[in-house]
Amino acid sequence: MAHDCLFCKIAAGEIPSSKVYEDEHVLAFRDINPVAPVHVLVIPRQHLASVAEIGPEHADLLARLFAAVQRVAAETGVAETGYRVVTNTGRDAGQQVFHLHLHVLGGRSLGPVA
Ligand code: IMP
Repeated sequence: MAHDCLFCKIAAGEIPSSKVYEDEHVLAFRDINPVAPVHVLVIPRQHLASVAEIGPEHADLLARLFAAVQRVAAETGVAETGYRVVTNTGRDAGQQVFHLHLHVLGGRSLGPVA
C-alpha cells in the first residue's frame, strides 16, 4: 500500500466505496462524481501510479483488470449497449489520482473521444 494513496485506502476498506466487483487482485467501485449513468473505476489492489509504471511482469494483472471491466459492464447493464474504457496518464490527461484506474463509462451515447 502506497503512503497517502486514496485508492489504496479504498482498496483496503479504510475509505468506503460503492463496490461493483472485487476479488483478490482487483476492485471496481462507482465514481464519486459520475459523468455518465454508468461510471465505474476498476483498479488493481497493487499500487501502480499509472499506465507509465506497467511492465511485462503485470501481464496477468492487466488481464484481470480487463476481465473485471467485462464483469462490470455485464453487471451494470452496458455490455449490450456499449461502453468506453479510459485511463488518464499524467498531467496533460488530467490524471487526478495517481493509482492506476480504468474508467468504465456507459449508459448513454458518449460521442467521439476528446
Ligand atoms: P482521474 O482524473 O482519471 O485521475 O480520475 C479520478 C477519478 O476518481 C475522478 O473521476 C473522481 O471523481 C474519482 N474519485 C475521487 N475520489 C473518489 C472517491 O473517494 N470515490 C470514488 N471516486 C473518486
